[in-house]
Parts: sequence; structure tokens; C-alpha cells
Amino acid sequence: MEGDKIKISIVKPKITKPKVKSKDKPKIKPEGKSKGKPEGKSKKKVENISKRKSKKKIGSKSQLRHDLVSGDWVVIAGSRNRRPFDPGKFKPAWTEEEIEKQSGDKCLFCEPEKSGQKKDVLIYKTIDDDWSLRIFPNKYPAFERPKGGPIAEYNEGPYYWMDSVGYHELVVTRDHDEDLSELDPLKVAEVLDAYQTRYLDLMTKKSINYINIFYNHGPAAGSSIYHPHSQLAAIPVISPYIRLELDGAERYFRSKKNCVYCVMLEHELEQKKRIVFQNDDFVVFCPFASRSAFEMWVTPREHRPYFERSVDAEKVSGGEALREALRRLNKVLGNPAYNFYLHTSPCDGKDYRYYHWHIEILPKTSIWAGFELSTGIEISTMEPEEAAKRLRNV
Ligand SMILES: [Zn+2]
Ligand SMILES: [Zn+2]
Ligand SMILES: [Zn+2]
Repeated sequence: MEGDKIKISIVKPKITKPKVKSKDKPKIKPEGKSKGKPEGKSKKKVENISKRKSKKKIGSKSQLRHDLVSGDWVVIAGSRNRRPFDPGKFKPAWTEEEIEKQSGDKCLFCEPEKSGQKKDVLIYKTIDDDWSLRIFPNKYPAFERPKGGPIAEYNEGPYYWMDSVGYHELVVTRDHDEDLSELDPLKVAEVLDAYQTRYLDLMTKKSINYINIFYNHGPAAGSSIYHPHSQLAAIPVISPYIRLELDGAERYFRSKKNCVYCVMLEHELEQKKRIVFQNDDFVVFCPFASRSAFEMWVTPREHRPYFERSVDAEKVSGGEALREALRRLNKVLGNPAYNFYLHTSPCDGKDYRYYHWHIEILPKTSIWAGFELSTGIEISTMEPEEAAKRLRNV
């Protein structure tokens, strides 16, 4: 339209784009030719940010890093801007007082049958007839067992909800004081085997579309019971975090005809600077866009969309890799609080061949304050390259 044209010709001269000399361009760019660049709308934004960034004082250490899968941003804040993260001053996950409070006969999980826990759904025995691992339903489940039939759904005006049905189980290892970082690697493989055994059963349940497997270590990470245990929550819905990863992986697969996780792994193995540990089947590394200091991913080396299809050899090397990651984390940070969780394809019967399962380990090295809560952008005060170096060398 005529009016619009006039408007544009008046406004246009005012928008003077900053000239960017090639030597001023930020050094950290998404890797590869174009594979790391966000697509669509956000691509434009990155270019704008890059141009603004080039005007910054030379030597600024802060970076806004882009997560290749989810599209999220994180800030890796250099020490000039914030107090640097000091691993030596980190508080352990459990205080002496708390350990004492839950010791020996006061423990709810040392002898679960005596402390009124529900009946085991799975138990692993040793040759001398002791148990080494058991799984039983959570006494206080967030998801209640379905009673059969379709899930009840409700409406109230514009609102919608349904019954919170599902299966919420606890995976408990025998030793009261030895967590996964201290167990024999084969025992950690047994834990992975137990996850898989329950997974294969729960995925056949009609109302279940996703199975969350997670581990909380220390009260700061949400654990109230000292005795080491993981949890399984089999639920009807696919969580927004998983959805974000699935969508990101699918988008990447469609445009580049490759798995985004495989591409990342290949790059990491080539670069080496963020690698923490590797064996025949698994690679442990600190992700490029780490959300917190010392974040690690334990990832199958080959393309594997479905955790539940792992073979024995993969569980053995996966157990070793997970145990190594946790052992190194404990060593460097002095037994910190952390969460780890397994991300795998949903079990809703759809095709997820573009996804690549992995375990994410997130130590509680920072708290979500106003900035993080309002933006979803986390600020880490240690570069993943530096964290990986420290984790590699212990
Ligand atoms: Zn115990
Ligand atoms: Zn892959
Ligand atoms: Zn993930």
C-alpha cells in the first residue's frame, strides 16, 4: 500500500546496522557450517545478537550459548562478571547430623518389609540369598495405579484435568551408605537392568505413554531418605522437557538427515575438550550449553533411540560410565547434591527413530533465582570445558 511505502522510507534511514569487521566477530559460534545455527525466526535473532555482541568490550568472558537440541539459551558467565564457582567450598549432599538421624535401624529402606513398605514388584538376590536390589511401589505416590478402563477426564469452564494415574516405584540398592558412585560398576549395571526390566513391563500398560527414571541425591536435590534409591514414574503424558527434545531432534533430523545427538557426539569426540570419560559403548561429556556447572551427559556412542532395547554389554558399559561420572563428580565437588535422569523415547507406540536416549546429571551447583525463573535461562559460572578438564583429571 502507498501509505506503508511512505512510512518505510521515513523510518529506514534511522535503522543503521552496526558494521561488523570479521576480526571482531565473536569467536564462539555454533559449530559446523550451519548445523549449529538456530533455524527459522531465532536464526535472525542470533545474527542480531552476534552483531550487538561484537560491540562489546574485547575480553568479556560471558557467553550466551545455544542448546542445539532444545533451542534453549544458557549464560556461561565469566569470572569478571560474577564470583567464580569454587568447587572447594561446596557443601556435601548430606550433613553428619542427617546421616546419624537416618542410620541403621531407623532406615526405612534397609529392611523395607519391616518398615511397612509395599510389596516388591521385583527383587534381585545374591548367591547367599540376601537381596541386592529391590523395587516396590512408592508409599506416597504422585501417580496412583489405574483402576482399569479409560482415564477419567473433567472440565470446569475453560479448565481441563484428568486423574493422575500411573505407576510410581522405588528402586533400592542393598547398601545403606554406598551410593551409585561407590558401588561396583557391575552393581550399577544391575540397576540399569532393573530399570529396563520394569520399563518393559510398565510400557505395556494401556494408560502409560512415558516412563521417567530419576535419582535424587541429597535433600537439596529433593531426597528425604538417605538410603540410596532411584525412582520410576510411569505416566500418561509426555512432559514438556521431553517434548522439547523430541521436537528439536525431529526438526534437526528432517533438515540435516542426521541425529542431532550423534552429530554432537562426533564433534565432542573430535574436539575432546568437553569429554570426561568414554568406554566401548558410552561417552560422558559436559554439554556445550551446560545449564549448571559440572553438568554431564552419559550418552550411548551408537545411535540408540530406545533405552529399553539395550543389550547386556551396553548395560555393563553404561553402568561403568554412569558410575564413573558420579564418582568423578563426588571427587571434584566433595559429594554434592545432584539429580540424574534418563531421557528416552516415549512408549506411546509412535516412531522416534530420530531420538537418542541419554542420562543427564545435574549437580546442584546453583539455585534458580529471579532471572532464571523469569526467563528459563540458567546462568553457569563455570565453563563446561573447565569443568570437563577437572572431571577428567581425577
Ligand atoms: Zn538403609
Ligand atoms: Zn543418534
Ligand atoms: Zn535430555
